[in-house]
Amino acid sequence: MAALNYDELGLKCGIEIHQQLEGKKLFCDCLTEIRKDNPDFKIVRRLRASAGEIGRVDQAALYEQKKQKYFIYQGYNDITCDVELDEEPPHPINQEALKTTLQVAKMLNCMIVDEIQVMRKTVIDGSNTSGFQRTMLIGMNGFVKVGNRKIRIESVCLEEEACQIIKRTKEYDIYNLSRLGIPLIEIATSADIKTPEEAREVASKIGMILRSTGACKRGIGSIRQDVNLSIKGGARVEIKGFQDYRSIPKIMNYEIERQLKLIKQGKKPEEQVRKAEPDFTTSYLRPMPGMDRMYPETDIPSIKPDVREVRTVKTIEQRTKELVKKHNISNDLASQLVKQEIDFKDYANKYKNLKPKFIADILINAPKEIKARFNKEINVFEYADELFSRADSEIIPISAVFEILTEIAHGKKPDYEKYKGVSDEELEKEITNLIKNNKDAPIKALMGMVMAKYRGKIDGKKAIEFLKKHKK
Ligand SMILES: [Zn+2]
Repeated sequence: MAALNYDELGLKCGIEIHQQLEGKKLFCDCLTEIRKDNPDFKIVRRLRASAGEIGRVDQAALYEQKKQKYFIYQGYNDITCDVELDEEPPHPINQEALKTTLQVAKMLNCMIVDEIQVMRKTVIDGSNTSGFQRTMLIGMNGFVKVGNRKIRIESVCLEEEACQIIKRTKEYDIYNLSRLGIPLIEIATSADIKTPEEAREVASKIGMILRSTGACKRGIGSIRQDVNLSIKGGARVEIKGFQDYRSIPKIMNYEIERQLKLIKQGKKPEEQVRKAEPDFTTSYLRPMPGMDRMYPETDIPSIKPDVREVRTVKTIEQRTKELVKKHNISNDLASQLVKQEIDFKDYANKYKNLKPKFIADILINAPKEIKARFNKEINVFEYADELFSRADSEIIPISAVFEILTEIAHGKKPDYEKYKGVSDEELEKEITNLIKNNKDAPIKALMGMVMAKYRGKIDGKKAIEFLKKHKK
């Protein structure tokens, strides 16, 4: 396959990112726990939205078709309430989620809106019990820098997550309620992206900025990317359902090739929503929807955000660079420390006699090495302070830290005595005794005896020094 010239193809691309937030739901106090186990209850509903609210022809037609169906919602007594069931009005907005979204908007250099108005977006596939999704515009006209290019951010919105589909049949659909109402940040870029690789970089950068807030959910499905693309003579398609942002370039290239093939055959590609497949192809999902039909949410008063109160945080990238510079450790170690949210500054301050590189190496690499070599797990943080403080005050040698961790991983109780350092006086005395008792032994043999006794506890150079000093 010849390399594609995206410039000549007139590639235009924008991406949309959806990120779930940790904590409580957007309009009730339920926890944001996504569950798939046996539900405590099931309720049956028919579509509630009236055709009058639906508006557009395709949506209205779809509505007629959906109306025949019924929906089964599965819920849990402890993590879903009457708000999710649309039997109770929404509670006041989750301030933490709002704060995080304002923060993200500011970190993406957006203009924050003067007044936040919650809107209802009509949803007729049953994924919202109410027939609409609540959404609000928080910021717009921002940008994100990738390399030396500025990609414009069109909007940052805060919305509620929909129910998770469990099963679709002709007569009914089954949805799980646990996901409904989880706060979701939606970020849309302009169609400024010029290559598939740049799309990946933009998705990675925005993901990094989101995670930097420390408020994001982790794991599969907690962040989703949609890619909008078009080429000259082709059609605009939206690709949904990327398993991983790293697959964006491959899948975009597949889609461009697919459209080029159609164009070559004299066919006109159609505007549509397509699915990103695990084998890096795309498949037809549904027709491209029209503009969202929205109307104001009357149950929630509008909010005037205090923009001066919005604090940005240092991004993961910035914190990594700072650690590298301050402690002279590798970028890889620093980035791991930041990603795992380890308070490295605290360790480095407490154990001033230990090299930062050594501390970082033990925290990050020791568990991996123990896993690789012995197939054992260890929570290094449980023992780090104990071991570092002993090594820092030279009660045990630095080389013993990893060995003790290995012993603990094997289920042994750490025997610090065994690794207790030997003072120079003690070593010198032992060596003079050895020489006296083994008059005919050469230095090499004596050295072997010393090391057999003190392996891991002494510095070999010191032993040689004393041997040479006393062996006449
Ligand atoms: Zn609830």
